[in-house]
Amino acid sequence: MKTDVIVIGSGIGGLSCGALLARYGLDVVVCESHMIAGGAAHGFERQGFQFDSGPSLYSGLSDRNSNNPLRHVLNAIGEDADWHTYDTWGCCLPEGDFATQVGADQFCEVLATLRGPEAITQWQQLQALMQPYGEAAIALPPAALRFDWGCLQTVSPFLGSMLGHVLRLPELTGPFSQLMHRVVSDPFLRHWLDLLCFLLSGLPASGTSTAEMAFMFADWYRPGVTLDYPVGGSAALVAALVRGLEKQGGQLRLGAHVDAIMMAGDRATGVRLQTGETLQARRAVIANASIWDTLPLLPDHPATRTLRQQRQTMPPCPSFMHLHLGIDATGLEHLACHHIVVNDWAAGVTAAQNVVLISMPSQLDPTLAPPGKATLHVYTPGNEPYDLWQGLDRRSAAYHQLKTQRSAVMWQALERVIPDVRQRVEIELVGTPLTHERFLRRYRGSYGPAIAAGKALFPGPKTPIDGLLCCGDSTFPGIGLPAVAASGFITANTLVPVKDHWQLMADIGLR
Ligand SMILES: Cc1cc2nc3c(=O)[nH]c(=O)nc-3n(C[C@H](O)[C@H](O)[C@H](O)COP(=O)(O)OP(=O)(O)OC[C@H]3O[C@@H](n4cnc5c(N)ncnc54)[C@H](O)[C@@H]3O)c2cc1C
Repeated sequence: MKTDVIVIGSGIGGLSCGALLARYGLDVVVCESHMIAGGAAHGFERQGFQFDSGPSLYSGLSDRNSNNPLRHVLNAIGEDADWHTYDTWGCCLPEGDFATQVGADQFCEVLATLRGPEAITQWQQLQALMQPYGEAAIALPPAALRFDWGCLQTVSPFLGSMLGHVLRLPELTGPFSQLMHRVVSDPFLRHWLDLLCFLLSGLPASGTSTAEMAFMFADWYRPGVTLDYPVGGSAALVAALVRGLEKQGGQLRLGAHVDAIMMAGDRATGVRLQTGETLQARRAVIANASIWDTLPLLPDHPATRTLRQQRQTMPPCPSFMHLHLGIDATGLEHLACHHIVVNDWAAGVTAAQNVVLISMPSQLDPTLAPPGKATLHVYTPGNEPYDLWQGLDRRSAAYHQLKTQRSAVMWQALERVIPDVRQRVEIELVGTPLTHERFLRRYRGSYGPAIAAGKALFPGPKTPIDGLLCCGDSTFPGIGLPAVAASGFITANTLVPVKDHWQLMADIGLR
């Protein structure tokens, strides 16, 4: 079989890229190893409960005019999900349990209760300090980027707004902690900001780029802000991207595990599936699998050796523990959809078993659970060491003991929110780094590359191998749904003529 482009992997990065390329008029086949599309963001069903495997926090998607690159992808392919909006989430912190709302002013109320006027002043100073960086972070939409000289034309509409920010570039790519330390000395505020950084990038403020935080500040702390959740869960977002791919003639092949990337000379020419079937790509093979899962697919060749040298040593973030529960929801109507639990600030937000996220999306979307029931996804976000699990046989008693031991922290967190949760359970699934590795086909079950701001940059979509590009969280700009959608956009743009890219920008109102 021959097609223009083969995308390896149907994560949000791969689907964004594939759907956009189909929109650009190319023949696209997306090969997904799993039987369900969506990668880290796939949804699955058990006994009438619809579960999210990964993301739970979405923003800037219900507003068609937002700067979120995933919104730009949806606009470009003419697809959408329906969105629930909300603004309140629960916090269970060492200081106590309370509800907070998105929005800069609302957080002042939390600070007034927990810390006092000095902390409020520092928070307001930080908001003021971040404002121009926020403007800088959204001055150039990733949808305008491409990795070739055509970029000179496609970024030209934004040069005016970018010029004012040129001097901020070094700080934007540097660690957020540098900026934060200028005005924030309050220990609670520093911990809080560290936590936000960790949730964004898998690293604390010292490793998270100012650009990432500035984008978040611009998004979360604008007037009238709400958070979003897709009706039908993350599966609905995946379905929108798949519709965008297929309506333009693109194909999604599930259960199509790529065994090898084929090369002729120094050019990638197609893929071989585990079944032995081969698919030829006239234009390009795009790897959406993580870089560590992509490198073993390549034959030995000088160009592949260069790629290995460049990227094999990228450090991976740790993995996850997951607890998926279906529970009796009687009397729980008052609870927020999301809670964040921090056990101990002193241990640091990246410490294993210290931070737990609780997502109960059926609070917003009751269709995710049978009547009177609730769907829960509790997880330790990117802080579970893979080494503890490495080599364990999933059928062994040792594995099951470790599962019980390491999931206790999620139960304890949940009991702070629903004290009698154990009596309510109707279905219980515990996931470990090995589950994560197996179902998400991810090396060491990792959250993604741990590339610290100021020390290194995420690589762009091109590789030293002609015809092989990458997209997804191993590629600029990094981890998270907006970032991987951005990388899918940039990779797709890089493959098409400037005039088509230019036209698409006009179609989605970017020029
Ligand atoms: C528990 C969790 C919570 C998260 N929460 C949030 C959140 O709230 N907000 C947010 O913005 N982000 C969140 N993230 C991060 C976000 O989900 C990821 O960064 C993003 O989904 C990664 O997308 P991707 O396209 O890069 O890769 P992936 O989703 O990893 O997709 C890669 C795909 O490639 C496939 N694949 C791999 N090897 C092969 C092969 N050989 N052949 C065929 N297919 C292959 C895999 O099966 C997979 O489907 C969360 C992640 C997790 C795990």
